[in-house]
Amino acid sequence: MQTSRDDRSVVVLPGATAPPGPAALLALLAEVTDVGLLCGPDGRVRYATDALTACLGLDPAEVVGRDCLQLVHPGDRAGALRSLDSLVRAGVGRRAAFELRLRHLDGSWRWVQGTAVNRLSDPAVDAVVVTLSDVSSRRAAEVALDELAGTDGMTGLPDRATLVSTLEAAHAAGRGDRAAVLVLDLDGLPDVDEAHGRAAEEQVLVTVASRLVRLVDAHGFVARLAGGRFAVLLGDADQHRCAAVAHELLAAARQPVRLGDLAVEVTASVGAAVGPAPDGGALLTAAEAALRRAATTPSRVWLARRRELPAAHRRQELVDDLRRGMRAGELVVHYQPIVRLDDGSPVSAEALVRWAHPSKGLLSPTAFLGAAEDSGAVVELGRRVLLEACAAAATWPEVLGRRRLPVSVNVSPRQLVHGDLVAVVDEALEVTGLPPSALVLEITETAVLGDLQQVVTVLRRLRDRGVGIAADDFGTGYSTLAHAKQLPLTAVKIDRSFVGGLGRDAGDAAIVASLLSLAAALDLECVAEGVETEQQRLVLRTLGCDRAQGFLFCRPIDAAALAARFAEPVSDEVTARGALARARQLRADGASLTTVAAALNSEGRTTSAGRRWSARSVALLLGATR
Ligand code: C2E
Ligand code: CA
Ligand code: CA
Repeated sequence: MQTSRDDRSVVVLPGATAPPGPAALLALLAEVTDVGLLCGPDGRVRYATDALTACLGLDPAEVVGRDCLQLVHPGDRAGALRSLDSLVRAGVGRRAAFELRLRHLDGSWRWVQGTAVNRLSDPAVDAVVVTLSDVSSRRAAEVALDELAGTDGMTGLPDRATLVSTLEAAHAAGRGDRAAVLVLDLDGLPDVDEAHGRAAEEQVLVTVASRLVRLVDAHGFVARLAGGRFAVLLGDADQHRCAAVAHELLAAARQPVRLGDLAVEVTASVGAAVGPAPDGGALLTAAEAALRRAATTPSRVWLARRRELPAAHRRQELVDDLRRGMRAGELVVHYQPIVRLDDGSPVSAEALVRWAHPSKGLLSPTAFLGAAEDSGAVVELGRRVLLEACAAAATWPEVLGRRRLPVSVNVSPRQLVHGDLVAVVDEALEVTGLPPSALVLEITETAVLGDLQQVVTVLRRLRDRGVGIAADDFGTGYSTLAHAKQLPLTAVKIDRSFVGGLGRDAGDAAIVASLLSLAAALDLECVAEGVETEQQRLVLRTLGCDRAQGFLFCRPIDAAALAARFAEPVSDEVTARGALARARQLRADGASLTTVAAALNSEGRTTSAGRRWSARSVALLLGATR
C-alpha cells in the first residue's frame, strides 16, 4: 500500500514534526480492530489488515487475490454486487455504507457493518477502500427485538422480556459463553420523585438511559428492566472488561442530571455476570443477585463469581419455592431463651425462623436465608417473622405467668437498607399491642457496610420509639469498635465462635474479656451466644458475663414448648430452679437421664406441675435430649 502526505487517511496534527512513514502506518493498521480491505474494481482483494483474523478467522494473506464477494452470504450477495457496481461507476470519492453477513472460517456467519469508498482513480491508492466491523451481537439483539417489538415506552429501550429472549437466543446459538449482563439500579430514584416530582424522575430516567446507550454503543445493547433498573448486554466480554464497563456505567449514572436550574445526583449500584452460564436467563439472574450484593458494597459494584453462576438458577427455584411457602404459611418461628448465667432463668427469647417444607421437612435458616437475602424475599420474610414474634411475645405475660419477657428478632441487612423497617416495626407493635420496650432487633455488621449513615438514621428512629438494638455476632466484623460507638445500640451478643473456645483457648478468653469490657464501657448489655458446656458457663461467669444463650440452657423450641417449659408460678419456679441446678450437677458427674430423675425424686423434688420426674421431663428441663 502506498501512502503520501496528502493522502486523506493521514491526519497530520498541528505541531507534529513529521508525518508517519509507511512502516508506522502499517504498524498502526495492524493494531486497528476494524477490518480494512483494499479491493480492485472486480472485487478482488489486494490487501487486508490483520484484524481480519479476529473477525473471520482468516489469514489476510489467504484472501489476497480472492473475490471478496465469495465471503458474502448468498442472500446478501446480489445486493453487495449491485452496491459495488454503482460505487465503481459513480466515480472517485463516492462512499457506500452496508451491512451484510460474511462467512467465518468456522462456517458460521458474522454480521458486519462497514463502508466502501471509491479511490480507484487516485493513483496513490487505486482501490476501493473497505472498512468493516463485527456487529453480530447487536444484530442478534435487533432480530430478537424485531420479533418481539418489546420496548419500554418511556425510554424507547428494549424491555425485560426482550433482553431475556435475546440472551436465550444468543445462548442457543452458542454465543452465550462470552456474553455479559450488567444490571444498573438507580436506587436513589424514589428520592428524586419525592423531592422534585414525577416529571423530574422521568427526566433522570431518560437522561441516564441515553448516557448508557451512548456508552455501550455498538458493543451490546441496553434494556430497561423496571423502574430505575437497566440491563446492559455485552456480546463479547471477559471478567476484566465487564468490571471496567461496570464502573463506567456507574460513573455515567452518577453524573448530575440538569433539571432547569437544578443539578440532581442519583445514587446507583451495578451487579454483573459473565458467561458461560447454564442457560440464557441464568446470566441475568446472576447479575441481579450480584446487584443486591453491590448495594451493600462500598464500591457499589459486584461481579458474580464464576462458581456462583450454575447455582444461580437453582437459587431462583429455591426463592420461588420460598415465596410460595411464605404465602402458604409454611414459615414457623422458634424461640430460644436468653438466660441469667447465675440461675438459668430466662430474661428474654430470640425468635429464629424455620421453614416447615412440605417435602424437605423442617429447614434451618441457613438453608434458605442466603437466597432470601439475595433475592430480596428476606424483606417479606422478616416482616412475617416480626409480626409473629411480636404476637407471641404479647401473650407471654399471660401464658408464662411471669413478668414480661422481651423478644429479640433478627433483622437482615436488606431490611435495614431497602425495606421500610420503621413502618414495619410500627405496624407489628400496633397490631399486636406489644410495648416497644419488649422488642429488641438484632443486627449484624454486614448491614452497616453499605450506607452507615442511612442505617444509623433508621436505628435512631427505632431507638426513639423505645425498641432495643443488639449487635449480633459481635466481634466478628472488621470494625467492631467503630460501629459499637456509632450505632445506637442497647446490647451486644458475643459471637459463639469466641465462646466455643472458652476453657480450652486462652486467646478466646482474652477476646471475650475485652468484648465484655468494651460493652461495659459503652454501657451495653452483653449476651454470650452458643454456650454448650458447663465449663464455658463457668468461665463466662468468672469473666463477669451475666447473660447467655445456648444449647446448655435450651435449644430453640416452638411457642407451645416454650410456654410448657417456662409457664411456672413463682414458688414452683424456685423448686424447678433447684431441680435444674441439681440435674446439671448430676449430669456433669456423668449420670444418665434416668439416674437424674431417680435422684431428684428421692430428694423429694417435683416438677413444676407437682409430678414425679421422668427421664423425659429431665431432658426437657435440661433443654436437650442428650
Ligand atoms: P444467630 O442470630 O446468630 O442465631 C443463633 C443461632 O445459633 C441459631 O441458629 C441457634 O439455633 C444457634 N445456637 C443457639 N445456641 C447454640 C449453641 O449452643 N450451639 C450452637 N452450635 N448453635 C447454637 P439458627 O436458628 O440455625 O439460625 C441461624 C442464623 O439465621 C441466625 O444466627 C440468624 O443470623 C439467622 N436467622 C434466624 N432467624 C432469622 C430471621 O427471622 N430473620 C433473619 N434475617 N435472620 C434469621
Ligand atoms: Ca441473632
Ligand atoms: Ca449470633
